Amino acid sequence: MPADVRTLEEHRDAILAAVRAAEPVSLRLADCLGLVLCEDVTSLVDLPGFDNSAMDGYAVRAVDVSAADPDVPGTAVRLPVVGEVAAGGVATRAVGPGEAVRIMTGAMIPDGADAIVKVEDTDGGTGTVEIRAGAPVGTSVRPAGEDVQHGQVVLTSGTTIDARGVALLAATGHPDALVRPRPRVAIVSAGAELVPPGEPLQPGQIHESNSYMLEAAVVASGAVAVRQATLDDDPAAVLSAVAALADDVDAIVTSGGVSMGAYDVVKESLRDHGVDFVQVAMQPGKPQGFGLVGDRNVPLFALPGNPVSSYVSFEVFVRPALRRMMGRDPEQRRTLTARLEHPLSSPPGRAQVARAVATHTEEGWRADPVWGQASHFVADLARANAFVLIPAEATRVEAGDMVDMWLLDEPGAG
Ligand code: AMP
Ligand code: MG
Repeated sequence: MPADVRTLEEHRDAILAAVRAAEPVSLRLADCLGLVLCEDVTSLVDLPGFDNSAMDGYAVRAVDVSAADPDVPGTAVRLPVVGEVAAGGVATRAVGPGEAVRIMTGAMIPDGADAIVKVEDTDGGTGTVEIRAGAPVGTSVRPAGEDVQHGQVVLTSGTTIDARGVALLAATGHPDALVRPRPRVAIVSAGAELVPPGEPLQPGQIHESNSYMLEAAVVASGAVAVRQATLDDDPAAVLSAVAALADDVDAIVTSGGVSMGAYDVVKESLRDHGVDFVQVAMQPGKPQGFGLVGDRNVPLFALPGNPVSSYVSFEVFVRPALRRMMGRDPEQRRTLTARLEHPLSSPPGRAQVARAVATHTEEGWRADPVWGQASHFVADLARANAFVLIPAEATRVEAGDMVDMWLLDEPGAG
């Protein structure tokens, strides 16, 4: 392999060695979904905070209703209702012997009461109540501290916060959490032929799609995308845009302008400014640029312009780096083994990242390569839900062969 050619793994490892996790900051809970907690969190309260009712019904002394049996006529008990307590309220008086207090779910158990008779087992009375079924001590009472105790560690450092974690943080009294923040990622596309979707095309022009794709992929990775206007094939414009962004954002992703052509402005403008342009032994995605730019050493990923190459490059190189910046395991998609449905040829000496439709069958995973494996087939890219990985040394895999596969939108893999 020539000196300026790297393997996919070498390039990815070089990127992962250069990027580091962001410093923790305190964020409002609403902003914490998918972020990594950076401290152990202890509860500020008991959960439940006080003995409370699990049902709408009547707070009673169990002994007073023990005779009531719904299967035995004439055993119902009638008690005076001496008060009422709703969630958020406090009973104005205790439940004395032979008395009942009407109570709602979540309300504090009044002093003196030791059981709740649910409203379905009564006549629902307000002056007096007929109790038709007994309730042993503790029935429908949620004891204080049963779930969580004050001072108990409820989430440990390193946990990725999901909706259930947000619930626990809020319930234990925390309006915010110390987390590694989402990187703000600027997305820059370059090319004189590119016109935003929605605008008419002149001869030779195409709709710009990579920045929208990369914006979506950045957001799907848990980071914040800051999409920039498309730049013309003008090296000075690329350089000044990158310099300004390097003062502002946490990472920069460019697409286009990195190959061997005459207008490869990204390469031309950035190669003397901290970005290494290399050939990676992979298909698609051979030309790649990476470096740390500006005074803040902002990682810059210069991806090739063909839409499929850009997407594959994002998945293979950028997504793991963004995950590392967020303190997450940079590991890529889970690798599964699948049976290939149609043969694929692969260039010698280059790892191929083929796109496929994965389906799960009784015999396991199957991968059906999409027809258009060239790097400009956007529709076939959109049909695919998996990458099939063919090692550099293989030049052909046959239908029926077992191959490594990544599911791209695996539930829970985000
Ligand atoms: P380049 O890497 O600039 O040589 O571009 C390679 C191919 O990708 C060309 O056909 C470009 O027109 C196309 N391309 C480059 N950038 C974009 C973009 N942002 N959106 C859609 N296609 C693009
Ligand atoms: Mg171009």
